[in-house]
Amino acid sequence: MSENGAKTAFLIRGGRVIDPGRSVDCVMDVVVGADGLIAACGDDVTGAVGSGAALGDVSVFDASGLIVCPGLIDMHIHLREPGGEHKETIETGTRAAAAGGFTSVACMPNTKPPLDNIETLTLVRERAAKYGYCRVYPLGTVTVGRSGREVVDMAALQACGAIAFSDDGDGVEDDAVMRAAFERAKAIDAVIIQHCEYKAISDGGVMHAGEVSKRLGLPGLDPRSEEAMIERDIQLVRETGAKYHVAHISTGKAIELVRGAKADGLPVTTEVCTHHLLMTDEACLERDPNTKMHPPLRSAEDVAACVAGLKDGTIDCIVTDHAPHSADEKGRGFVKAPPGIVGLETSLGLAGKLLCAGSADWPVADGWPELVRWMSCVPAQILGLGVGALAAGAPGDVTVIDPDCIGLVDPAGFASNSRNTPFSGWETRGRAVVTFVGGRLVFLADGAGDRFSGVVAPLVRV
Ligand SMILES: [Zn+2]
Repeated sequence: MSENGAKTAFLIRGGRVIDPGRSVDCVMDVVVGADGLIAACGDDVTGAVGSGAALGDVSVFDASGLIVCPGLIDMHIHLREPGGEHKETIETGTRAAAAGGFTSVACMPNTKPPLDNIETLTLVRERAAKYGYCRVYPLGTVTVGRSGREVVDMAALQACGAIAFSDDGDGVEDDAVMRAAFERAKAIDAVIIQHCEYKAISDGGVMHAGEVSKRLGLPGLDPRSEEAMIERDIQLVRETGAKYHVAHISTGKAIELVRGAKADGLPVTTEVCTHHLLMTDEACLERDPNTKMHPPLRSAEDVAACVAGLKDGTIDCIVTDHAPHSADEKGRGFVKAPPGIVGLETSLGLAGKLLCAGSADWPVADGWPELVRWMSCVPAQILGLGVGALAAGAPGDVTVIDPDCIGLVDPAGFASNSRNTPFSGWETRGRAVVTFVGGRLVFLADGAGDRFSGVVAPLVRV
């Protein structure tokens, strides 16, 4: 923790403040106090700034023409540490997050060893506190060793900081085990995030089962494997009352099932990955291993259903499922390469391009308020994080976005330790300019330093 960073207060002046949780969308100032909390947010914050002695030295950031919003939150990423440090570490992964505008990430527990025990969970939290550039909320596994056989001691893991529970990478297939997991989660008011997949149905599939997989002669992954587990889980939620979140939803039928569960008033939520809004299985035609992911890129109808699901509120939020893999691993060819792509540094610009500037798919002239809801407020609510708003007294997690910045995805510039993206060269719209976590400057885009005056704050870890 940097002493300099801790002593600096920030006045973020004249930006378009979008704070959907409080229905705020207008040009105003935000003051982040030296204590790391939002000190003021309004038209006239001179009072808050004037009490310089209380706030310490003030660093002024000119946010004119920019969006100032609660820090972005990605509730589904893989940091790979411990056990996969050649792909990503907590340090590189959180640096990538900060560069992508994220101030909080929830990391999946399929590390080696997995986060099914207090020791490993504590290790992740300690390393995040020491090396992290953003807040890290680890999940605990649902079952011991992610084996699907025995439910973990959720209360103990929750007491040690597990923010939710998931066997991500695998679904919990056994009905009795899943029922016991829901009952245990309900007792401690925890959310279970399910990777929905029956291996017996999906087994051997390397891409979406459809016309393209047939044309390529590659084994297809039947969408029914995802849908059948959601169907089973919704029935168990109906019986147990536990909170249930469907990870990386990807098919039209799956979205229909969640729509029905919500209509019945069940505590069911879901997320969509940025890539499932943007690419169909046709992207796999070149057999680029960077188009291999899990769930796979689906049909055009499924992609349209994902976009429609976001629009009508069936899908609650956007995630990246940031899944780093080394060039060696991804270089094994489409069939043998591990599934997954990085996303922390591309998601905002790709989602901004699709959803914020008006397009045939999404004829909204200004989609930024909705995007901030999907990428900050709602994930904070689902996980109960206590961030995701800019009210006075809230944690000073703020992302400043340049909504008009047009760019191209360039993996060579990633802060992440991995480069596995199918979006190289894609046009983006909007990028993070400055990212603050707990009142500390954790990311400053090239050229953005010119907007600072007064005290020049150093870049620090959280
Ligand atoms: Zn998954």
